[in-house]
Amino acid sequence: MFWEKYSYSQIKSRVFEGLSRNTNYRTERILGIPATFLDTDIFYDDAAFLKDAPFLSVLIANPNHIGVHTFGDEHEDFFAGTQEIEKDLVKICAEEIFSAEPGSYDGYVASGGTEANIEALWIYRNYFMQERSAKPAEIAVIYSADTHYSIPKALNLLGLEGIEIPVDETTRAIRIHALELLVEKALADGCKHFIVNVNMSTTMFGSVDDIDTMTSFFDLLHLDYKLHVDGAYGGFIYPFVANESSFTFKNENITSFSIDGHKMLQAPYGTGIFLVRKNYLKYVCTNEAGYVKGKDFTLCGSRSGANAVCVWMILRIHGSAGWRVKMHQLIDRTTFICDKLDESGVVYYRNPQLNIVTIRSEYISPELARKYHLVPDSHHDPSWYKIVVMPHVRQGIIDDFLSELKYEQKKILS
Ligand SMILES: *Cc1c(COP(=O)(O)O)cnc(C)c1O
Repeated sequence: MFWEKYSYSQIKSRVFEGLSRNTNYRTERILGIPATFLDTDIFYDDAAFLKDAPFLSVLIANPNHIGVHTFGDEHEDFFAGTQEIEKDLVKICAEEIFSAEPGSYDGYVASGGTEANIEALWIYRNYFMQERSAKPAEIAVIYSADTHYSIPKALNLLGLEGIEIPVDETTRAIRIHALELLVEKALADGCKHFIVNVNMSTTMFGSVDDIDTMTSFFDLLHLDYKLHVDGAYGGFIYPFVANESSFTFKNENITSFSIDGHKMLQAPYGTGIFLVRKNYLKYVCTNEAGYVKGKDFTLCGSRSGANAVCVWMILRIHGSAGWRVKMHQLIDRTTFICDKLDESGVVYYRNPQLNIVTIRSEYISPELARKYHLVPDSHHDPSWYKIVVMPHVRQGIIDDFLSELKYEQKKILS
């Protein structure tokens, strides 16, 4: 995995160069587009600082990255300059983070992990309907009980059945025997095609599903399935910490990934990234998108070019080596917390490759959890509270929290 680190001035010139190749609403004759620059009473474009502010400059110029720009010669060319930057971003994510072969994937910056997950399930539903003449009732989506709620949301929208696989209470691992029974039952009930969502870190626990065990079982049964990896949470941390990983495009069983820029990467909201192998986006081509040159293959339609540029800027200012260091710092801080919890005998779940610690609710008072804004698994009846070691979680806060927790433990014991 490698992408070069750029200096801020290199980033600035690359972004302004892209912007200069976009159609400019201020200087060109543009009569046909229902879009323009941002409102000038709020966003005046002659502010002196803008020449040193590439992201804000793109935001104000307001390029639309509608459609997908990783394939075909035919696409919207009004904003080709900044769309090229998005292509470099998708290339870094697909080729460097997930080891795709050049030219073997498509991708775009979606509104978030929710959209990227829905896009994946939408593609595979249509794939089975078009390629296998499947009826929706013959397609089921397999996912663990710790899966993000965007998957049940997608099932509801797409009219698909879900098969929720229970997880072990302590290890949060999918219960393989339950998976076997539920899949066999689905087959007996007439299900013929499966969409599998595999979590490359769940939101609540940071648990990573055992993709190899799952796919060996599916292959043993000769199951007809397509597999999506939900890396909305873990996508920008897990691949940088795990040494050997089955979560790459080298794994033939995987067809797509979701990764959120607006979680670990500290990008603004609206930066979910969807990556998929070539020749799959066609299943969600909206041919009726007559006015969009090159058609639309996304769920969202119009989308912010500035957001795509921003994610690229963040990846480029760190480079792959810098990003790895940054993620390892979060991991080390998380391990520090776990070591202290071990000393106090507090029971928690933690995946060593993730920056989440999920504490059993009986070891912490609701007051303390509230004071430090720990998030419960359920607001009505919490069994767990989680700590997410994000970049703002400094050692001082961690120390305060741990000493208050220790004090509580003493009171309980005495
Ligand atoms: C946050 C998250 C999502 C949803 O992402 P949004 O960006 O909030 O739409 C999906 N899956 C996982 C695992 C997540 O952590």
